[in-house]
Amino acid sequence: MRAVIANDQKLRVDDWPDPVPAEGQVLVKTLACGICGSDLHMLKHADHMLDVAARAGSAISNFDPKKDLVYGHEFSAEVLDYGPGTERKIKTGATVCSMPVLMGPSGITGLGYSNQIPGGYGEMMVLSEALLLEVPNGLSADHAALTEPMAVGAHAVIKGDMAQGDVALVIGCGPVGLAVIAGLKARGLGPVIAADFSEKRRKLAESAGADVVINPAEASPYAQWSDFGVAFSSDERTMQTMLGETPKTAVIFECVGVKGVVQEIIDGAPTGSRIVGVGVCMDTDHFEPALAIVKQLDVRFVLGYAPEEFAETLHHIADGTIRVDPFITGHVGLGGVAQAFEDLASPDVHAKILVKPQMKD
Ligand SMILES: [Zn+2]
Repeated sequence: MRAVIANDQKLRVDDWPDPVPAEGQVLVKTLACGICGSDLHMLKHADHMLDVAARAGSAISNFDPKKDLVYGHEFSAEVLDYGPGTERKIKTGATVCSMPVLMGPSGITGLGYSNQIPGGYGEMMVLSEALLLEVPNGLSADHAALTEPMAVGAHAVIKGDMAQGDVALVIGCGPVGLAVIAGLKARGLGPVIAADFSEKRRKLAESAGADVVINPAEASPYAQWSDFGVAFSSDERTMQTMLGETPKTAVIFECVGVKGVVQEIIDGAPTGSRIVGVGVCMDTDHFEPALAIVKQLDVRFVLGYAPEEFAETLHHIADGTIRVDPFITGHVGLGGVAQAFEDLASPDVHAKILVKPQMKD
């Protein structure tokens, strides 16, 4: 089959052996696959990412970046054929999604991060039957491919542990921030304040349902707490309690992943806030624990999603609770992937570009 093959920081379109489904696996035709910021980062800085994964004891991303591999973990696909020992409950021809994980005889493989098993930037893949989700409601393959990145938002929101009436602030409205905003609105949480320097991303944040959208070049995202009834200092919080009010908590989602942002949030966060780190900062960062202590901030970091969050996200997209259409800003065939990697560096043009391996370019 044809695939976009990465090797030593370069992409090329070339032949890759047709995947063959093993026990419990399904052969699929890739219909759409989103290009993720992680793929851009992996292509250039795989060594650092792999080092971090290894130190965390994770074997799921374990590949040699100087050998061929096919990226792509945000996909939808069509069932072509079943391997041995399968139940075949989903008909061939059906559109499916799956978490990007393959269970095989040699353990678990991260799809899109393996030298042996191709990800979604190729014409075909093998998936685990046990993880297949049939795409409901005649949802298009393009929209279904957004399940994976949107599930990241659902997971962050669940980990944010918000109560009704709490106020959410989303710092950064790239694909991760947009997924968080959509995840908050899908659960009826908020008000949601969103901030990004890019005009395009602020527009997308609005279409995702953010209640207030701020350009940090013009106004501080941390200046509006009192408008939403959130007490900034512990004194004000104590006063609210004495008056019989339940103080509202600010939950701040860090979706930028750049050095210095955590400290900026610690500075701007009201006492008792929760900070959820979702943006992946690869630099060593520093912050001032004393201020976080005085404010009694709860800082947590999150990654990925649970299977039920993934399935729920697919259903939220299919029933229209989450509208992904505005986030899809481009389509490319295999031949357009290398250029798309370049184009995604500009935040004012693109959010999500979908690779359509069957599209001629
Ligand atoms: Zn991704």
